[in-house]
Amino acid sequence: MVEKPRVRFNYEKTTKMNDLMQGLQLNTVCEEATCPNLGECFSSGTATFMILGKNCSRNCRFCDVNFGGMELVNPHEPMNVAVASSQLQLNHVVVTSVARDDLPDGGAFQFAQTIKAIKEVSPNTTVEVLIPDFMGNKESLDAVIAAGPEIINHNLETVERLSPKIRHRATYKRSLEVLTYIKEQAPEIFTKTGIMLGIGEQDDEVEQMMEDAIAAGVDFLTIGQYLQPSEKHYPIEEYVSMRKFGIYRRLGMKKGFKFVASSPAVRSSYKALEAYQRGVLN
Ligand code: SF4
Ligand code: SF4
Repeated sequence: MVEKPRVRFNYEKTTKMNDLMQGLQLNTVCEEATCPNLGECFSSGTATFMILGKNCSRNCRFCDVNFGGMELVNPHEPMNVAVASSQLQLNHVVVTSVARDDLPDGGAFQFAQTIKAIKEVSPNTTVEVLIPDFMGNKESLDAVIAAGPEIINHNLETVERLSPKIRHRATYKRSLEVLTYIKEQAPEIFTKTGIMLGIGEQDDEVEQMMEDAIAAGVDFLTIGQYLQPSEKHYPIEEYVSMRKFGIYRRLGMKKGFKFVASSPAVRSSYKALEAYQRGVLN
């Protein structure tokens, strides 16, 4: 049985955040991906901004984001994210995007500009980016690294065997290469990855994924339950027990991660600030 996430809903803060997002033409992944933590995170003033539009150039079988119909890049978006972060008095901002394979740099320049704008407007705010693989383009990765975020996250999404079944264009190997490259180029930046459970993965495959991520220098790991967005999405195989999530959390810490969030409602940006603080204290 899956434990339901505890939701503390604050209508005033949630409404303020919604109004601000609409006014600045910003999207949050919290809403687009119908995240189960939305009430809790919005109420506590935490959000993940989704830049570069609502539509994705990839069509992963587990994801609820629209496929195709790529939008124009908004040059004002980086500063709009910075202004929203400042007005919401966020201490830790998470920025992510759809995959933009239609753009020559995969959207890396927009990521870099957004990081710089947040740092300019709110110098004490820590920034986490959850990036696509940029098709492994090193210049794109260099641009994001040079902008100086505190955390770069790139999700493996699942174990190696199931990767081709649920991911579109991304590969397990390239994702590991991306994480390895970032840590080699900038050891001072924390790296992070995440997977979903309930897709059909086996215990030994999850353990292998942890070892691969540790070998790639990854600092933080998130593990959450896959929730099938609709009947046309990849079928859910099981609701993983809380006990097993706990076992994986302990195993991950034993393998050497600095922070592991492992629970059914965990998403990439859940308790992102806590992970960062633990990493700094480590
Ligand atoms: Fe948004 Fe992340 Fe919180 Fe989900 S966990 S509501 S995506 S900030
Ligand atoms: Fe969803 Fe990311 Fe896949 Fe696009 S690349 S479909 S946003 S998981």
